[in-house]
Amino acid sequence: MDNAGLAELLASASEQAEGNLQRALRRASRRAMTWPVELPGLAERGELQSLEGVGPTLERIITRWLEEDEPVPTPPETRAGFLTLTRVRSILAGHPGLELKGDLQSHTVWSDGGVTVAELAVLSEAHGFEYQAITDHSKGLKIAGGMDEEELTRQGYEIEDVNERYAAGGFRLLKSIEMNISPTGEGDMEPEALAGLDLVLGSFHSKLRLKEDQTERYLAALANPDIQILGHPQGRMWNFRTGLHADWRRVFAEAARLGKAVEIDAFPDRQDLKVELLEIAGEEGCTISIGSDAHWPGQIGFVEFGLAAALEAGIPTDRILNLRSAEELIGWAAELRDRSA
Ligand SMILES: [Zn+2]
Repeated sequence: MDNAGLAELLASASEQAEGNLQRALRRASRRAMTWPVELPGLAERGELQSLEGVGPTLERIITRWLEEDEPVPTPPETRAGFLTLTRVRSILAGHPGLELKGDLQSHTVWSDGGVTVAELAVLSEAHGFEYQAITDHSKGLKIAGGMDEEELTRQGYEIEDVNERYAAGGFRLLKSIEMNISPTGEGDMEPEALAGLDLVLGSFHSKLRLKEDQTERYLAALANPDIQILGHPQGRMWNFRTGLHADWRRVFAEAARLGKAVEIDAFPDRQDLKVELLEIAGEEGCTISIGSDAHWPGQIGFVEFGLAAALEAGIPTDRILNLRSAEELIGWAAELRDRSA
């Protein structure tokens, strides 16, 4: 049994349990995705409690599952197709020397993140990145404290100030936004306010539980001239929401035709796009953007979930934006913008 199997056992057991045990099982199931080591080895050494979320009760339950070789149930759609950190690391080990140059989705205190622009720069540079795109939410997403045009302009000055502290050619923050897009593909920001940004991500945050085909919604978003990257396309969330349905081949073919990118939101609970859809995106020739969707310290590293998913899906490395330099990336977005103008 690997951590993915254990995560599913914990999640399905939580559905039968109640009260504190239910919460503990559900919490451990979510944490199992980001445990840095595979479980059976730890169990043999009696170190299960060193894992985040595992106390004496769960240690007893897990030990019994391992001893009895408990069969792992097939996960429901809300939990299917997620990579665990251990799986991610083993995929990446098969591609030595491949390192992302930056992260293309992150949030600060300007919307719903917990770090300042300056703090994020420090964290990103320390992570070894050459650039970090700051993509706070736009005004339509009130629940996440989205920015209006005036706040976006002020944030831009703050980003410029921080960038001045770094040597030319060294680390830099990219000015960006995660613009909220309506189900009919319209953004919620004045196009003039977006013109000064390096990149614009557009994401859906509403009507994410519809069961009907949403192909037209995606085609409309891709046609929006202000957007270069379609953020967390499916809108899925681990153990919560399956995300939207569409004729993905058609959506990805249109993205490729327009030269726009589709994102892998690499937050472990999202992993959106997932490997299965990335395989189709790869076949259609899509460009891929990877974002950690970090909101707090310690989350930038989630980009590795995205890189592993892209590699697992066979995406050619020259189609991964984060493997390009900041200049190439900005040039790519500028060209798209000019073409749409
Ligand atoms: Zn979002």
